[in-house]
Amino acid sequence: MLILGGTAEASALARLLAGEASFAPLLSFAGRTVSPVLPPIPSRIGGFGGADGLAAFLRLEAVDLLIDATHPFAHQISINAEQAAAAAGVPRLVLQRPPWTPKPGDDWRVVSDMASAAVTLGEAPRRVFLTIGRQDLLPFRAAAQHHYLIRSVDPPDPALLPAQADVVSARGPFTEGAERALMERCRVEVMVTKNSGGADGKLSAARALGLPVIMVARKPAPSGETVSDPAAALAWLRAHSEAPRGA
Ligand code: NAP
Repeated sequence: MLILGGTAEASALARLLAGEASFAPLLSFAGRTVSPVLPPIPSRIGGFGGADGLAAFLRLEAVDLLIDATHPFAHQISINAEQAAAAAGVPRLVLQRPPWTPKPGDDWRVVSDMASAAVTLGEAPRRVFLTIGRQDLLPFRAAAQHHYLIRSVDPPDPALLPAQADVVSARGPFTEGAERALMERCRVEVMVTKNSGGADGKLSAARALGLPVIMVARKPAPSGETVSDPAAALAWLRAHSEAPRGA
């Protein structure tokens, strides 16, 4: 079985599968992170070459089952997975964490993309906490009146950085207390984040501090059978391993 990963959910599923002698799982990373936390199962790193390349990989490696456990904002690989699984006749399950929903006390402006998030910051200079990773920074270069605190696992390309930026390289999850301390120390006035779901320490901290959040919404989820819990994905794998292929 092939697991398309790069998420906490994929890693959790890998840990569950490590104790299952009857499976031969392979976890795939795109290779975006310089030092990925390697799982306790075999893994590979790098793209497949589009949907056709992934379909060819599924056939070549005689993959029986495909789990798309990629990040909710990794749209292209999910499209590829859907097309490749259909082409190769391989059953596919989407493992994706649910989105966050606002709680009492939250002050969210929901936007559809990063360009809209940068515009929504407004004309007046603000101190902005950007927790969006390091690949989508370009729109904020144009909103150069703001000061940015940018957090990502690996340092961003300096060419993408806005003029006024402090960079923190750190790997989550982060507790509410640590997030709150960081926001207070850096005098953050507004946070920009993607609706990734999962650990929500930064949202709790923003709520506690009364800070507004500019929330970039998800695009429509991949189609097909979907679970949010790695244990449910394991149950799906077990059920499909018992049935002969094509049954
Ligand atoms: P993307 O735009 O959907 O994918 C771009 C290309 O990267 C794909 O076409 C594929 O290349 C390759 N790729 C993506 N995931 C792969 C995987 N698990 N194994 C092998 N190749 C993969 O993805 P992205 O937004 O750049 O994200 C890259 C990876 O980082 C994903 O695996 C995702 O789970 C993880 N991640 C993304 C985010 C985010 O906010 N986007 C956040 C946390 C983690 P080919 O076409 O050559 O096969």
